[in-house]
Amino acid sequence: MSLEEYKGVFIFAQQVDNHIDNIAFELLGKAKDLAAPLNTQVTAVLIGYQVKDLADQLAEYGADRVIVVDDPELKEYRTEPYAHALSSVINEYKPDIMLVGATAIGRDLGPTVSARVKTGLTADCTSLEIGDFPIQPREGVEQKHNQLLMTRPAFGGNTIATIACPDNRPQMSTVRPGVMQKIKPIKGAKAEVVEYNPGFTPNNKYVTIEEVVKKVSETVDIQKAKILVSGGRGVGSPENFEILKDLAKAIGGEVSCSRAVVDNGWLPKDLQVGQTGKTVRPQIYFAIGISGAIQHTAGMEDSDLIIAINKDETAPIFDVADIGIVGDLNKIVPKLTADILAAQQ
Ligand code: FAD
Repeated sequence: MSLEEYKGVFIFAQQVDNHIDNIAFELLGKAKDLAAPLNTQVTAVLIGYQVKDLADQLAEYGADRVIVVDDPELKEYRTEPYAHALSSVINEYKPDIMLVGATAIGRDLGPTVSARVKTGLTADCTSLEIGDFPIQPREGVEQKHNQLLMTRPAFGGNTIATIACPDNRPQMSTVRPGVMQKIKPIKGAKAEVVEYNPGFTPNNKYVTIEEVVKKVSETVDIQKAKILVSGGRGVGSPENFEILKDLAKAIGGEVSCSRAVVDNGWLPKDLQVGQTGKTVRPQIYFAIGISGAIQHTAGMEDSDLIIAINKDETAPIFDVADIGIVGDLNKIVPKLTADILAAQQ
């Protein structure tokens, strides 16, 4: 493999039912950052059936080029035809970097494709940048420049690992939704659109989809909320979450929670913030009765304003909080809600 042949930053533009997933726009934002020091282009790979019209949206969010693989076999996501499509694009166009969202689809597709094109993949990255490998020069190890440095929590979130892939191409990574910033869309931007179809031969490896049953989510998307009122084990019971819901209602926010709350069966997993939950970046994040374990803060520390309420003044949540209130949440939260409602009258 001649590494010099591999050029450009590619992203997998995930779409479902011909709607581009937000993760594609987030990946484009990051891809633009990575492409600048490499002085290269950003390419979105759009795979599906009758999806060509979506290319303009990708251009508005930063794609210089869109490679469209359009085929009836790609109408719904299935591992085999999608993996064939993406690995064929990689073999044909030879990207230096290939980013895939760490969504349910991406977690299936990314590793399958990386194995097929014989390269490595760093899963579930929370930070990506271009730099030198090894980061600190080491005797006997050749220093390589302009490598993709992929950072992710490791060992159950107790440490942060930065991983590089200096000897194979492309450098592949799946990226957590909600972590990377999309750019402000450039209205009317156009990308070069390239149509590519490697040919699909249905065989017994192609799963047949009998029926698609859509789950109707009863919970809100906490990644879209501007204000989150998040509760932890300290809230004490599912019933007591009512006081957090009252506060959220008073300020136009939504309720989210720590993993302890989900593990106790108090709230559904969709509302969990953190390493094994969702990464959120609201304008205001209330952490109420949450101790601030690293696995929790990994999912909320980039919020604009963090307000923590905890009875233990040594709780680590105060290390990431902008405003800390030490005291009993059962007294503070209802009082805060009442004062806010009074001020609104
Ligand atoms: P606790 O740590 O029990 O904290 C409760 C807090 O409430 C305490 O600080 C206490 O002082 C305070 N409190 C109690 N009563 C009151 C009161 N009346 N008024 C005010 N304060 C009060 N955790 C996540 O949240 N998200 C994740 O995605 C996640 N992923 C994980 C992944 C792995 C691999 C592992 C090992 C762990 C993960 N965890 C995650 C768990 C994490 O380590 C913590 O156990 C969890 O975040 C603790 O939740 P908590 O803060 O609600 O509970």
